Amino acid sequence: MTDRYQAVLLFGAPGAGKGTQGSLLGKIPGYFHMSTGDMFRSLDKHSELGKVFFDYSSKGELVPDEVTVALWHQYVHAQSLLGIFKPVTDLLILDGIPRTAAQTGLMDQYIDVLGVIHLVANDRDEMVKRLSRRAMQQKRVDDAREEVVRNRLDVYDRETKPVLDHYDTALVHDIDAIGSPGAVLGKILQVLAPIHEKNFPNSLEN
Ligand code: AMP
Repeated sequence: MTDRYQAVLLFGAPGAGKGTQGSLLGKIPGYFHMSTGDMFRSLDKHSELGKVFFDYSSKGELVPDEVTVALWHQYVHAQSLLGIFKPVTDLLILDGIPRTAAQTGLMDQYIDVLGVIHLVANDRDEMVKRLSRRAMQQKRVDDAREEVVRNRLDVYDRETKPVLDHYDTALVHDIDAIGSPGAVLGKILQVLAPIHEKNFPNSLEN
């Protein structure tokens, strides 16, 4: 028995489609999608934390680990107090955390990782193009400049990718992220649905 949140990690480089897949998954009953990028972007940009976020994200850098995990914990706790996230029936889909080895260690006390969905997209130039396109559509400062985008991809290779080694290889599911959103979603659900049904038999009644 554990009181940690049962979670699946949505993992992959910037531009691999985590955000698109996460928001599609979040519409399915029994899945609760939580993105740390969205959490940070929802901060008041004049607040102290909002300024810290801007300082790092505008350079393509990660926010320091302790601050990130503490904020994440408060955020997820608040969502569960408000009944928006129901840990007893909802599988938590974590998008964007943990993103460093230190965060992985800090998060172990809060989450029980049931699986890792690793969206694999190896074409770096295609990712840069996707991110630049999205920056224009969503007015995102972090992806507006190509050097920042390239730095985000470097930070991913250097700091985030090694996080995968922390988890048992049986938990890590590589999924080809190239394809239409529906096709990629189908492949993710083939992995997620059995995990969900096994660990949340009660939510099948809904
Ligand atoms: P994303 O939308 O996931 O690409 O995140 C946008 C930005 O938010 C990142 O470039 C970081 O500055 C910050 N961020 C999001 N998640 C984390 C995290 N787990 N650790 C540190 N910084 C993060």
